[in-house]
Amino acid sequence: MNKHIALIRGDGIGPEIVAQAVKVLDAVAEKYGHTFTYEEVDMGGCAIDKWGDPLPQEMLDKCLASDSVLLGAVGGPKWEGLPGPQRPEKGLLRLRSGMGLYSNLRPAKLWPQLAAASPLKPSIVEKGIDFMVVRELISGVYFGEHKTVEQDGEKVATDEMYYAEHEIERIGRIGFETAMKRRKKLTCVDKANVLDTSRLWRSVMHRLQAEYPEVEYSEMFVDNAAMQIVKDPSQFDVIVTENMFGDILSDEASMITGSIGMIPSSSLGDGTRGMYEPIHGSAPDIAGQDKANPIGTILSAAMMLKYSFGMDAEAQNIEDAVTKALDSGLRTADMMAEGCTLCGCEAMGDAVAALL
Ligand code: NAD
Repeated sequence: MNKHIALIRGDGIGPEIVAQAVKVLDAVAEKYGHTFTYEEVDMGGCAIDKWGDPLPQEMLDKCLASDSVLLGAVGGPKWEGLPGPQRPEKGLLRLRSGMGLYSNLRPAKLWPQLAAASPLKPSIVEKGIDFMVVRELISGVYFGEHKTVEQDGEKVATDEMYYAEHEIERIGRIGFETAMKRRKKLTCVDKANVLDTSRLWRSVMHRLQAEYPEVEYSEMFVDNAAMQIVKDPSQFDVIVTENMFGDILSDEASMITGSIGMIPSSSLGDGTRGMYEPIHGSAPDIAGQDKANPIGTILSAAMMLKYSFGMDAEAQNIEDAVTKALDSGLRTADMMAEGCTLCGCEAMGDAVAALL
């Protein structure tokens, strides 16, 4: 197959980790006889520096013309003082909405080799951690109106949280479909005791529930979910939730699996073209030092092969190569443990590519 991939290297550790994923993709292409071509796309802080805009239209167009997008990470302290619309993260939000990517899947899976790195007690970890957070990505409070006004001599800020039924239905359906492909358990996480948007979520989910009688469906308030994820994560199979709750819970879920550097994600809309990125940020504290863990990005590339290109065997091959690299004792600094061998970002990429 020939596939054209838009590469957003981004800021901070972004260029280092994307380079490792490309190395692995090239090794896959050679092994399986595919051709992957790449299109460089500027987004985030680097695009602000070069173009004065975190995502110029021309860059979005390149993504729309690609078969899929692979992203490192964007942002950093250099651009933090800029007004909202000009900040690097705005580029990411515009990319997600410009590509119509409403569904974000983030697996929270404990690699047995990294069990010791989980901050949870062994008695909790040994029950297993393997669940998927399905997060709505292009609506909710991140996309509502944000404003700060002067009122009675002080500043007052409001952020609007908005959901339409069709937005809930399309992500709710992905929650049910994902559960059908897994252990058939779905938990809808919300704040229905306070928020109207959550009550609307529940009513739409109840309609969908009738179409998926095989799925064991339940509902949980987000504050309880935050507790349950650390108390007994083995109870979850698939969590479906709105944008902001999903953002927060999926970071919590990644932490209990050992390292934020290990977790990939996929963002998809109605077609097969998606955007794939590790869930972490640009880690400015370790940028340019060859210390970053590239596995989240490498596994994001594997998700791209599986979900956008239908290359299941190739994706499995990458996951197996990561397993072998971890089995060999190689560890980047974020997941280093006694008796293991410390390596840099590049050496980890080399190892995974060689073990394919
Ligand atoms: P972060 O995820 O960048 O870093 C949090 C901590 O995890 C840091 O100590 C970092 O060194 C470590 N870390 C992250 N990824 C790692 C990796 N692959 N290997 C080893 N260690 C890793 O979060 P932050 O510090 O809150 O944010 C930094 C910048 O990234 C901010 O500008 C933020 O807005 C941006 N950000 C971007 C994205 C994205 O591009 N999708 C997501 C989150 C944050």
